[in-house]
Amino acid sequence: MRVLITGGAGFVGSHLAEAFLQRGDEVTVLDAGTDHKVCHLLAQPRFRFVRGSVLDNKVLDWLVGEADLIYHLAAVVGVEHYVSNPLKVLQVNVNGTQNVLRAAFGHGCKVVFGSTSEVYGRNGRVPWGEDDDRVLGSTRVDRWCYATSKAVGEHFCFAYHRLGLPVTVLRFFNVYGPRLDSLCSGRVVSVFLGQALRQEPITVTGDGTQTRCFTYIADCIRATVAAGVQTGTEGEIFNIGTDVETKIVDLARLIVKLTGSCSEIRFVSHAELYGSRYEDVPRRVPDVSKMRKILRVEAMTPLAEGLRHTIAWFRAQGVEQTGAAVGYAFGS
Ligand code: UDP
Repeated sequence: MRVLITGGAGFVGSHLAEAFLQRGDEVTVLDAGTDHKVCHLLAQPRFRFVRGSVLDNKVLDWLVGEADLIYHLAAVVGVEHYVSNPLKVLQVNVNGTQNVLRAAFGHGCKVVFGSTSEVYGRNGRVPWGEDDDRVLGSTRVDRWCYATSKAVGEHFCFAYHRLGLPVTVLRFFNVYGPRLDSLCSGRVVSVFLGQALRQEPITVTGDGTQTRCFTYIADCIRATVAAGVQTGTEGEIFNIGTDVETKIVDLARLIVKLTGSCSEIRFVSHAELYGSRYEDVPRRVPDVSKMRKILRVEAMTPLAEGLRHTIAWFRAQGVEQTGAAVGYAFGS
């Protein structure tokens, strides 16, 4: 099978590319960022890296025409981008998704769309089933531009599905693992790991009782592959993740313990970290029964085990000395 992964040089995309190569498939990655996260795959004959954007319809039409299955993961991701450059988030995520779907529809090719747990917003009634409500704040709060952009993408998916396009939507729940983001930036796991490895204070926002369900990348990838290769997933949404809930302050403590760090935990206000254009999500928990039942995947990696692998990977990069690992805005 020939698999096209937009945003395939990002965190989830690079692991997905590996998984399909291991299955014996051909993989093309379209990504506007660097090839750092896939440089170990470049020499493989069944792997191709194309630097380009999902905003470029010509390149999309060419690559989609050669594919049997498309994963659309290219997006601007990360809270710091939502609050610093909402225009780019909206343009890439909304227009890029529309472009990919239009090209796929033209060629009749199945699309798996990488959406997000963010679409549920701050709906207080957890766990969230796939058909539960979205509860988002004001459009004056930039944080919600990402959730909105992904929800628009999902609407495009279902609009094309009604026209006959096979399309599946996956909502990822706080996926982490090797190659996540640059240390000290991006998502909370890489921020805390960077701080712990450099013996700096761990910045927990609010009182740290807000929760997330941290999903190890290997578990996420098993479900993501299944959604693409299995029939009967078309027209469906799947929550992808674990339902084990972790308080952010407990994540901070666990990271301090596992890294053997001397870092103290420092409580900071949200405004201190992200300015006034940010609101937090107090609890984020999926109902994963559909993933279990239809995709037959269970996210089984305990947080401590997944973090140990992640810490080992960051350490192997020598990040404690150099202060930087690979990371960029495009990906998943
Ligand atoms: N967070 C934190 N300290 C940081 C960065 C993030 O306490 O330095 C918190 C953030 O406020 C949120 C949670 O960690 O409650 C997860 O943040 P992340 O940026 O990973 O994305 P989210 O899950 O909110 O999409």
